[in-house]
Amino acid sequence: MTRDEVLDLFRRSGALLEGHFRLTSGLHSPGYLQCALVLAQPESAERFGRAIADLVRALRPTVVLSPAIGGIVIGHEVGRALGVRALFAERQDGQFMLRRGFTLSESDRVLVVEDVVTTGGSTRETMDVARAAGAQVVGAASIVNRSGGPGNGVEFDVPFESLLGYTLPTYEPDKCPLCAQGLPVVKPGSRQVAV
Ligand SMILES: [Zn+2]
Repeated sequence: MTRDEVLDLFRRSGALLEGHFRLTSGLHSPGYLQCALVLAQPESAERFGRAIADLVRALRPTVVLSPAIGGIVIGHEVGRALGVRALFAERQDGQFMLRRGFTLSESDRVLVVEDVVTTGGSTRETMDVARAAGAQVVGAASIVNRSGGPGNGVEFDVPFESLLGYTLPTYEPDKCPLCAQGLPVVKPGSRQVAV
C-alpha cells in the first residue's frame, strides 16, 4: 500500500482529523489520529493486515503476538494474511503477560504487531513476554509509526516495518500558531469534524 492509500483509509473513516485539537495531554495539535476508527472497518483492517504481512513475510514468523487492546485487531489480520496464529499479551497488575491459555515455545518465531508505535514501549514489553517464554522475536510491525521515522525514530533490536510514518506537531497552548490565527480549538471526539 502506498502512503496515500493508507492515509485515504484513515481520512475516510474519520480516524485522521485535521484542524485544531486539544489533546488529552493539554497540548494543541493540527491533527488527531485514532486507529480504532479505521480498524472498525473490517475491509480496511484486512487490507492493512495483508500489506504488513507482505513487508514481514521474509522474516518467516510462525506466530503474531500483539499488545492488548490496540494491537489485537491488526495482529489478527496479519496472522490471517500470514496463515499463522495471532495471540495477544495483556496487562495483569501492570505487567504484560500471556493469559487465556495462550502459549509460546522455543520453536516459535514471533512477530510483534501493534496499531501505532509512538515510543515503542508496549512493543518492547510484548517482545519481553515472547522472550520470557523462550521464543525468538524475529521482527516488529505497526500500521503507524509516530516516532519520527528513520534516523530519529524508535529503534528495536529486530527489524521493524510500518505502513505509515506519521508525526504530528504539538504546541503549548500559549505558543500555538493555530490559536494565534484565532481558530477555535476542539477536543477530539466532542463533535464530528469534516476533513
Ligand atoms: Zn491552539
